[in-house]
Amino acid sequence: MDKTFNVINFGCRATQADGAAIERALLNLDLRKSVRWQRSDVVVINTCTVTNTADVEARQVIRRVHRENPTAKIVVTGCYAQRAPQELARIQGVTCVIGNSHKERLAPILAANYLATAPFPILQEQTRVEGADVFCSSIFESRQLRVIADATGAGRTRPVLKVQDGCSYRCSYCIIPSVRGDSRSLPAAEVMRQVGLLLDQGFREITLTGIHLGGYGRDSSPQETLAQLARRLLKEERLERLRLSSIEPLEYTDELIDLVAESPRMAKHFHVPLQSGSDRILRMMRRPYLAEYYVCLVAKMRQRVPDAAIGADVMVGFPTETDADHANTQALLETSPMTYLHVFPYSLRPGTASANLRPEVRGEIAQQRGRELRELAARKNREFRSSFVGKPLSVITLGQSGEEPTVEAVSSNYLKVEISNGAVASNQILSARITELTAEGLRGEVAQPAIAQAKSAAPLEPAQAAADPG
Ligand code: SF4
Repeated sequence: MDKTFNVINFGCRATQADGAAIERALLNLDLRKSVRWQRSDVVVINTCTVTNTADVEARQVIRRVHRENPTAKIVVTGCYAQRAPQELARIQGVTCVIGNSHKERLAPILAANYLATAPFPILQEQTRVEGADVFCSSIFESRQLRVIADATGAGRTRPVLKVQDGCSYRCSYCIIPSVRGDSRSLPAAEVMRQVGLLLDQGFREITLTGIHLGGYGRDSSPQETLAQLARRLLKEERLERLRLSSIEPLEYTDELIDLVAESPRMAKHFHVPLQSGSDRILRMMRRPYLAEYYVCLVAKMRQRVPDAAIGADVMVGFPTETDADHANTQALLETSPMTYLHVFPYSLRPGTASANLRPEVRGEIAQQRGRELRELAARKNREFRSSFVGKPLSVITLGQSGEEPTVEAVSSNYLKVEISNGAVASNQILSARITELTAEGLRGEVAQPAIAQAKSAAPLEPAQAAADPG
């Protein structure tokens, strides 16, 4: 009987895209994808390690998989696997640990070492820790990003294409550069090819993502900027909407902002990590900008694109953060045109530059600061949403929402919209007239198609959507 596998993903969009690429590689080994890890012969656990909580969750899931499916080969990969492979290898039930350095070879490693019909040679760099094999090195083999562009997405109508990996910044709190290596980019021609494949499947909106997306193309020869890449992609007329995920403040160039402002096919959405509104904390974080720079940047975005979503990541409780630092962050966010925030508590990561900084901020103080910022974000988000009641918004439909006769959609400016008037197919870009606020989003009715006519092709599942190994 065919062997089956299941991939359990944690973490950011880039890690999700890695997980989809792993699925594709395992399908190419003739393993069959199982929807239930409880019944799979191989369970791949694709981890995140950005916070201590992410580590705890990964360990809990590994133990649960082993408890409920004791015969499964458990393969742990991803950022946690790169950071602490021995720690993971010691957990009972783990068969092997494959760091990001070897992630592209996960399928051949599996075939060579644990599956009977291996056409691959046994690899040499294997070490053994209490029953589990470890494949991990601090040298990232693949300097050039190759086959990790892939399609994932909620509702399967908004695929995410990972065009960049790694990071050449060294923010003092961040473990990512040591678990993903320096920045490298998918060549533009390959991005074009992957986008073409997604469009062939009927997708209309594509999100470009990366670990440090704004660094796209610096390692390419000749160099190419993200704005140039986006312009190149927009020449492909079948692409109805292009969305850019998070971009660092210094990398949001005027050229990029102009492109979002001028092209009706660019999603009206800016996500710009802030982290802190205190210059003292930004310096300690080794973030290469000051609060004033950020304030001017988001003001320019609002002025150029009045309806745009403008979001930020903000960290609370960085070591030494005082009430005054926190007040600066609050004041900056209060007076800036933010429409949503992702608020994270600082999490000490061993091996980072900030790990020895003292004094630490007490947990309950960090939690209180986080609550204050989330309340601020909820209020600003509600104000932003309210401004669209009675107006049209361009949305892409995702699919039916549960038992309700409503269809979920996401607007160009990143608002959740429930379409309430009748059946609308998924994967349509439409104009919805907004009728009211909901708890977290908006409700609206379909007025007229916003862009061109509807395509009939239903989008495929992600593994099919990028079934080309590149
Ligand atoms: S920009 Fe800073 S926070 Fe973001 S991945 Fe790079 S080092 Fe980490």
